[in-house]
Amino acid sequence: MDAKFLSLALPGVQALSPYEPGKPIEELQRELGLSEIVKLASNESPLGCGPAALKAAGATLNELARYPDGSGFGLKQALSLKLNVDTDCLTLGNGSNDVLELVARAFLSPEHEALFSEHAFAVYPLVTQAIGARAVVSPARDWGHDLEAMAARISLRTRVIFIANPNNPTGTWIDCETLEHFLDGVPATTLVVLDEAYFEYVAEPNYPDGVGLLPRYPNLIVTRTFSKAYGLAGLRVGYGVSSPEVADLLNRVRQPFNVNSVALAAATAALADSEHLAASVAANQVGMAQLVAGCQTLGLSYIPSAGNFLTVDVGHSGRTIYQALLEKGVIVRPIEAYGMPQHLRISVGLKTENMRFLQALEVVLKERVC
Ligand SMILES: *Cc1c(COP(=O)(O)O)cnc(C)c1O
Repeated sequence: MDAKFLSLALPGVQALSPYEPGKPIEELQRELGLSEIVKLASNESPLGCGPAALKAAGATLNELARYPDGSGFGLKQALSLKLNVDTDCLTLGNGSNDVLELVARAFLSPEHEALFSEHAFAVYPLVTQAIGARAVVSPARDWGHDLEAMAARISLRTRVIFIANPNNPTGTWIDCETLEHFLDGVPATTLVVLDEAYFEYVAEPNYPDGVGLLPRYPNLIVTRTFSKAYGLAGLRVGYGVSSPEVADLLNRVRQPFNVNSVALAAATAALADSEHLAASVAANQVGMAQLVAGCQTLGLSYIPSAGNFLTVDVGHSGRTIYQALLEKGVIVRPIEAYGMPQHLRISVGLKTENMRFLQALEVVLKERVC
């Protein structure tokens, strides 16, 4: 491409590479003419959304000419009851990524730094650099966040710290004690975003509930989403929980109708459907055990994961194995952009999907070795 405008973009934008989403099923169908495709690439719920959410979504379709409720009243009421926080602590987003961007827009400028870990979620550099702020990347330890190393990198310019717990794409998680010790040392003028996109899946007894920490840490912003365990990724809805003052600032920079009416209705219904949520979480545990056992059988090492995905060291170029799997109709995620060129991230699917992946991987690895 002839670069006519590159030099006109913000320096941080020039330095970004475009986010690579999981390959859509239809795209692979077009390319290969395959019909039976398994996609385990975007940490989507294999059970889909629940019947209550689907019904609520459908009921809004007669009103599509109307703008959504820009205040998200119903969903905020439901979240307030569920989380035991006041509604003025809530910020609704077009996905929780939207909330991450609101944080950057409200609090970062070119004089500021955002701090996050190596191998952390790709949206942190994206929202930081898009605003012209400096991204400071702290080295990981055993693929996970090294909060001591991060604490050592906090400067007077550090305005926002992003922490994913558990982290995507590594699945690593931080326990209560480690997190609280870190938060105790963060200056009151530095905001900490605790990204809990996989909160509902985590079964570890010592896993912190960020919302419960808010009364002690007014500089904390917790983000969660309906995209993962609730199975509503296509509708784009997530939220932030923070002090009312921070929520007020985030809501000032929010687009007035950032969450659409179908998403508001479906998310409100999904929140009440604890049965479907429990089914998603249970299916994930079974599928995770299957993937772990399969990788052990193949002699592959993996990073123990608290989320709905498993990141596996395939011992070769992850991109090459990814391509070979595509040819067998299996879409997973190469993660060299996260500094992990030998790993692939596999979302936990249904039993048959996980099996298709494991069988395809076994064949592909054999072909590589010969
Ligand atoms: C998937 C994910 C999100 C959020 O996605 P949305 O669909 O925008 O809510 C946020 N953080 C992490 C770490 C994720 O993996």
